[in-house]
Amino acid sequence: MKKMINFGLATLATFTFAQAAHSSALIEKDDVAKTIKVIGRMVYSGLALTNEIAENSTREIQDMWSETPTDVVIGGVSYRVSFEIDYVIPGNQRLYNSDSCAHNFVNVLNKTSPGDRSYYAGLGARNAVFYTSDGLGTSTTTAHEFGHGLMLDHNDGDQRRADVPGIMFARGTLVRSEYQWNSNAESGQAGGTINPKYRKVRAEDIQAIPFDKIVTNSKSLSCLGSGKILTIK
Ligand SMILES: [Zn+2]
Repeated sequence: MKKMINFGLATLATFTFAQAAHSSALIEKDDVAKTIKVIGRMVYSGLALTNEIAENSTREIQDMWSETPTDVVIGGVSYRVSFEIDYVIPGNQRLYNSDSCAHNFVNVLNKTSPGDRSYYAGLGARNAVFYTSDGLGTSTTTAHEFGHGLMLDHNDGDQRRADVPGIMFARGTLVRSEYQWNSNAESGQAGGTINPKYRKVRAEDIQAIPFDKIVTNSKSLSCLGSGKILTIK
């Protein structure tokens, strides 16, 4: 994986937003090509961080969100969505305090109490904690958490009618038996809830991202959810 996308640091620094606090992705919408690019940069730090964790976590987010080619309809026009997720390890986050809403500041830690689970600070937040005990890069956890950054909440309730478990299904969700920890377990009993490894990013998950907040313009950039827009020069 390339560590820097073409849309590099200098370019990102050019596009700064006054109200980027509640956004984890930069949205590039092209009304000619009919495409929407979701640009995110994971900015890793933390006592348990390794290069391997940074690489694997970023790749999981990129690969899972790219797995299902999806169109979204905005204002009657169909756009193909793609994702460009990369990462940096700046060493000192205070030196990387950019306003770009592409940035997701992730603290990688080892679990210290039984209840420790990876989380984003909120829907559309740009700060997160990833725990190494959650199988970073191999369990779908990082892609699920990034979904919260994209303002997506959990798909709650009984999901036994779903063909494939969506990425925003929480742990404990009731699913068809083949997606349980133990396919022979009674639904809702021990082993009878979702094994997160079966989660997938489905078209409906991508279509649930609030792209409709983007102002329809020619070629444009926006922070997800902020409604702010900046035309590419
Ligand atoms: Zn969650």
